[in-house]
Amino acid sequence: MKFTLSCGDAMPGCSARFEEDSRERVLDLVSVHAQEAHGVTDVTPEMLDAIGANIVTI
Ligand SMILES: [Zn+2]
Repeated sequence: MKFTLSCGDAMPGCSARFEEDSRERVLDLVSVHAQEAHGVTDVTPEMLDAIGANIVTI
């Protein structure tokens, strides 16, 4: 099973997509991506919860 997330679901216009073996790993990558690509300096647990809701398993 893979956990995938399309950043565009949360950030319209962003084409970044993540696919990892664990949900935690996806969230790690997304938090780094949010900081580097979107200038989000403080990724809160609430944000990660909201982002995590968009993670799809395949
Ligand atoms: Zn993005």
